[in-house]
Amino acid sequence: LLLASRPLRALGTLNIALQEGLGGLQRVFDVIDEPVAVAQAPDAVALPPGGGDLRFEQVSFRYPDGRMGLDGLDMVASPGLTVALVGPSGAGKSTALSLIPRLHDVSGGRITLDGVDLRRLVLPELRDAIAYVSQDTLLFDLSVMDNIRMGNPLADDTQVFAAAKAAAAHDFIEALPQGYDTLVGPGGQRLSGGQRQRVALARALLRNPRVLLLDEATSALDSESEAIVQHALAHLRHGRTTIVVAHRLSTVRSADLVVVLAQGQAVECGTHDVLMAANGLYARMVRNQAFSL
Ligand code: ATP
Repeated sequence: LLLASRPLRALGTLNIALQEGLGGLQRVFDVIDEPVAVAQAPDAVALPPGGGDLRFEQVSFRYPDGRMGLDGLDMVASPGLTVALVGPSGAGKSTALSLIPRLHDVSGGRITLDGVDLRRLVLPELRDAIAYVSQDTLLFDLSVMDNIRMGNPLADDTQVFAAAKAAAAHDFIEALPQGYDTLVGPGGQRLSGGQRQRVALARALLRNPRVLLLDEATSALDSESEAIVQHALAHLRHGRTTIVVAHRLSTVRSADLVVVLAQGQAVECGTHDVLMAANGLYARMVRNQAFSL
């Protein structure tokens, strides 16, 4: 693979790359083996220019087995802002994320990106505009270089290095036995958890997505790795719309908007301070230490 010319390699990884941006979500939702539920509209339109204005309007979603995932969710993520989704287990946070790249289509209501119903958009353009980063983003048993380049198979080495630097990954990569050519092992097992996350962040940065979907880790990294990852994330969030399923108090405090989900609906929304003052479900969650520090 390393010997292949760039265009050839680009073609080979393009398909993986398209899937991989969303691979983690697909695994989370087990949709890989489900029949393809979404299709591109025959008269699909290109994604217009925009800053990533994302709106859920009375969105309902029912899983194929009949379970209610969302039940009339209203939510607005304005361009460049970070929205934290919080709520009890089963509230619909992951379901809401999964609808944005159209892993499923809404059963009722609609979701728009920069003014266009997601179902009207050319599907690869929609998915190209989105990056998903989770605690267990999939790494392939390829070199670090190839793993990062999956974010954009057409990126040159300089762009890969820049993304790695921005993700605070460059220094540790250079210190690996073969630097950027080091094979990461199956699932990336030769890297630590914090290193894997930073490779995943570099990949997402290379994609330069309009919308960033984050599923924040519940499992703790050591505090130094955590600080580095948080710093890289702050960089990644800059200049794009971010929706984060938040498990940390620092994340919800720094979000521009916190949307509290319960039973598939937004039951509260506002900043941390406003919601604390409102003394409702969110304030109860904070008091009951539902968030890690
Ligand atoms: P958690 O914090 O535990 O991850 P969540 O807020 O992300 O929870 P979801 O996973 O979105 O909640 O679940 C919302 C509802 O949809 C729950 O009732 C859940 O049981 C149901 N659900 C989620 N995934 C599926 C699925 N693949 N098939 C059927 N029902 C599902």
